Amino acid sequence: MLQTLYSKGVSDERVLTAMGGVPRHFFLERGLDKIAYDDKALPIGAGQTISQPYTVAWQTQLLHVAPGEKVLEIGTGSGYQAAVLCELGANLYSIERQRLLHEKAKSLLAQMGYHPTLIYGDGFEGLPSQAPFAKIIVTCGAGHVPQPLLSQLAVGGRMVIPVKTEKALHMFAFDRVSKTEIRQIKLNECSFVPMLQGLS
Ligand code: SAH
Repeated sequence: MLQTLYSKGVSDERVLTAMGGVPRHFFLERGLDKIAYDDKALPIGAGQTISQPYTVAWQTQLLHVAPGEKVLEIGTGSGYQAAVLCELGANLYSIERQRLLHEKAKSLLAQMGYHPTLIYGDGFEGLPSQAPFAKIIVTCGAGHVPQPLLSQLAVGGRMVIPVKTEKALHMFAFDRVSKTEIRQIKLNECSFVPMLQGLS
């Protein structure tokens, strides 16, 4: 898997090492062990998918996480991306809107020795009580850029989020350069399950 990621342009050694440290097959539905390390999105239950390893690596690389940084993830899902961020030393908060997935990720990550703060809630609101965050990563495709998330981004911080523009979903990086100024970088097309309002 790491070879594939490297050949597709993931060159950040810290990201590759972090991903090499997380057994992806733990996070999938039963019976998928043989294809767990293929570069494919795979089912995790509740109609959701774990992103393909390349997408996880790409988004993580874009985030430039330094050890100890306060990071907010929207869309805990299986907990795989959360585990990768913990391997990088993030002080992680992660929100999931589906109770079943939230509970499952909570017990799995604890069993594996990872201790992020997992929240059952609607990621559109972010987590004002813990703001500001040095980094925010959204792992579901948003129809618009949620303003509460931008307002919870620290000066010098970055948010990486897939957002729908006209027809396609594109990855974006938003950099907060000052209290009042945010710079936007539009990146390649990508594919994610949708970011939905409310709880389930
Ligand atoms: N990071 C996850 C990816 C899971 S797919 C992983 O590594 O497995 C995206 C997840 O985003 C799904 O579990 C979906 O339920 C969740 N999601 C969608 N809209 C959301 C919202 N508004 N708030 C929080 N989570 C949301």
